[in-house]
Amino acid sequence: MSRTVAFIGLGHMGGPMAANLVTAGHHVRGHDLAPASREAAAAHGVDIADSGLHAVEGADVVITMLPTGRHVLDLYRDILGAAGPGTLFVDCSTIDVADARTAHERATAAGMRALDAPVSGGVVGAEAATLTFMAGGGDAEFAEAEPLLSAMGARVVHCGDAGAGQAAKICNNMILGISMIAVGEAFVLGESLGLSHQALYDVASAASGQCWALTVNCPVPGPVPGSPANRDYRPGFAAPLMAKDLALAANAATAGGVRAELGLRAAELYAAYAQGAGADEDFSGIVRTIRKQSGDQP
Ligand code: NAD
Repeated sequence: MSRTVAFIGLGHMGGPMAANLVTAGHHVRGHDLAPASREAAAAHGVDIADSGLHAVEGADVVITMLPTGRHVLDLYRDILGAAGPGTLFVDCSTIDVADARTAHERATAAGMRALDAPVSGGVVGAEAATLTFMAGGGDAEFAEAEPLLSAMGARVVHCGDAGAGQAAKICNNMILGISMIAVGEAFVLGESLGLSHQALYDVASAASGQCWALTVNCPVPGPVPGSPANRDYRPGFAAPLMAKDLALAANAATAGGVRAELGLRAAELYAAYAQGAGADEDFSGIVRTIRKQSGDQP
């Protein structure tokens, strides 16, 4: 069934996601503050509205893909009054779990319905419509959003009630951040012990050290030809985004009294790396910082 979708935030992720909805036959009315994002989306068949307010008027579903929870809550304050009663608001941004729950509350208090549906898969997944969506909200809201999310992704998981999608996203990325640091430390330790990258890879990838950070995004060049380490750590998954997700996980852990010692430490390490050498690098490049701080051995 063709829907009228307001899509607000047409950046690196939102632009190609909106384009995939157009390809699937939906009428997409998009808005972004940046002229370049508006022009790129228009070239892919998105009908550009001159404001968020105008984009949502008459829309069946409103999708947002914005940088932070503050952006989402500020936008909701401005546009909730302009949407028709019962419009479904789907926020795909990665934001704080608490902000996601506040967004749900404000949407429902205004007579709307809401779902949080953050993604993993990056810009490549957004372009290829192979994203994974992690959704939080009611069964009816999930059922209504599911066909739209499937047009932009390969996997759509209903994780639970309001905020559960964001919770799944930050828990997963906390595992990923910690495991990338662990894999990087193991390679640098191996170097200091005279162990070749390939030998460590051949053992760990088939043993209990196996993980995505090793076998897909291997932080040293060689063993996994497609990993960003083979192209001077061009992202991939940019280190500042990993730092952002780990900060969200750390906030949630601290707020909930969870003793996530490695998660908190990973957030600190990625914050420092993303502000320095990692500003434009894939998050696997943290191995170079570990090596440098170890005295550049061997
Ligand atoms: P981006 O900065 O490229 O896009 C965000 C867009 O929102 C920008 O174009 C900006 O102009 C627009 N914007 C901000 N405020 C607005 C407003 N009030 N009205 C209209 N437009 C507004 O960011 P991105 O990489 O597309 O990421 C978007 C979200 O997706 C973030 O929450 C990010 O954490 C998450 N995410 C990104 C990736 C990735 O690989 N880039 C992967 C997974 C999740």
